[in-house]
Amino acid sequence: MENCIFCKIINGEIPSFTVYEDDDFKAILDLSPATKGHTLVIPKEHSITLLDLSKDRAEKLLEITKKIVNGLKSVLNFSNYNIIQNNGKLAGQTVEHFHLHIIPRYSVEEITLWVPHENDPSVNNSLADEIRNAIK
Ligand code: 5GP
Ligand code: ZN
Repeated sequence: MENCIFCKIINGEIPSFTVYEDDDFKAILDLSPATKGHTLVIPKEHSITLLDLSKDRAEKLLEITKKIVNGLKSVLNFSNYNIIQNNGKLAGQTVEHFHLHIIPRYSVEEITLWVPHENDPSVNNSLADEIRNAIK
């Protein structure tokens, strides 16, 4: 895709610090890391959200991610980490080329992911029914 930053990184038009690469994926250090070693796992094929990702890449993604996490852990000496993947602007996606974040955690304070809210259990009950029926 012409104006996609990550396609340009994959093509080598924009430099990046690559930590892993194979035929289908490239993993790079994030330009503005949340923590040391914050890495982006990027399928080379251009897709925007999880639902656009091909079956083949989706199936390979977690195995590749596990491999990269192991490498990061051995270098950076952490045991806790977050896997985050934003879909759409409201969810915080700023680069419209699918990618998954690996964020090593060294302390509790570094990032806040969400603020929990009180919830009425009866709402969840009917909601779960509705969702279960919608999943095919
Ligand atoms: P998103 O908010 O879309 O889930 O994450 C996009 C990530 O890409 C951000 O964490 C941002 O710092 C990173 N990023 C944006 N542009 C570049 C770039 O040119 N190079 C690298 N290495 N990371 C980038
Ligand atoms: Zn792209």
